Amino acid sequence: MDYSTDIHWRFGQVVTAVREYVEEQMQLGFLELEENENQLRDRTSSYADLDLTGLRELAVACEKCELSKTRTHVVFGTGNEQADLMFVGEAPGADEDQQGQPFVGRAGQLLTKIIEASGLTRDQVYIANVLKCRPPGNRNPKSSEIESCEPYLIRQVMLIQPKVICALGTFAAQMILRTDAKISNLRGHFHSYHGIKVMPTYHPAYLLRNPGGKRQVWEDIQKVMAELNLSIPRPDAS
Ligand code: SF4
Repeated sequence: MDYSTDIHWRFGQVVTAVREYVEEQMQLGFLELEENENQLRDRTSSYADLDLTGLRELAVACEKCELSKTRTHVVFGTGNEQADLMFVGEAPGADEDQQGQPFVGRAGQLLTKIIEASGLTRDQVYIANVLKCRPPGNRNPKSSEIESCEPYLIRQVMLIQPKVICALGTFAAQMILRTDAKISNLRGHFHSYHGIKVMPTYHPAYLLRNPGGKRQVWEDIQKVMAELNLSIPRPDAS
């Protein structure tokens, strides 16, 4: 191979390596393609004049997807409307559907413990789901349902303007970050959702089945608290 051919071959190798790296990072959600401001405005234009009260009123009457036929209550979200920290799960479960509140079942009780261990209360954070209505039998959400419902979440995020979103579980993280990457690869690192930092971590329901994951969730929560410049109380300090 002469010098010129060798240089071209090496250049081709570098381009291929860079392309593979970028594709891998995008798949992992580390390089997200941000929607620009105009796209974001288009997706939420019907809700642009609504505050959280108006948005909630619209959501509780919503029939944009088939989940409206089987839900008991719309689970809009709850907590501090000026919260720096927002938790976002996938969709309401049976307890949440009955009570109209997010994360109130066994998994929700564990989430409350995690929040309190970090030195906060549920009233100081905001808790919501990507989908506002329960998929029957807790089946996986359909992409059409996510597309119909996501503008509510986007508008919620725009109004609350949290500094950090903690995405709970595979589906919430994948939906928010537009990626197919596994939660085990996504967690532990900050990503971006419309300019807001996102920390994916395991869903509390997963932790009920796999208590070994609690250590990793706690590591993720510690990073979130550090990002918020908040200190975590020592266990014996309360
Ligand atoms: S899941 Fe969302 S889009 Fe579908 S009916 Fe409920 S509020 Fe409307």
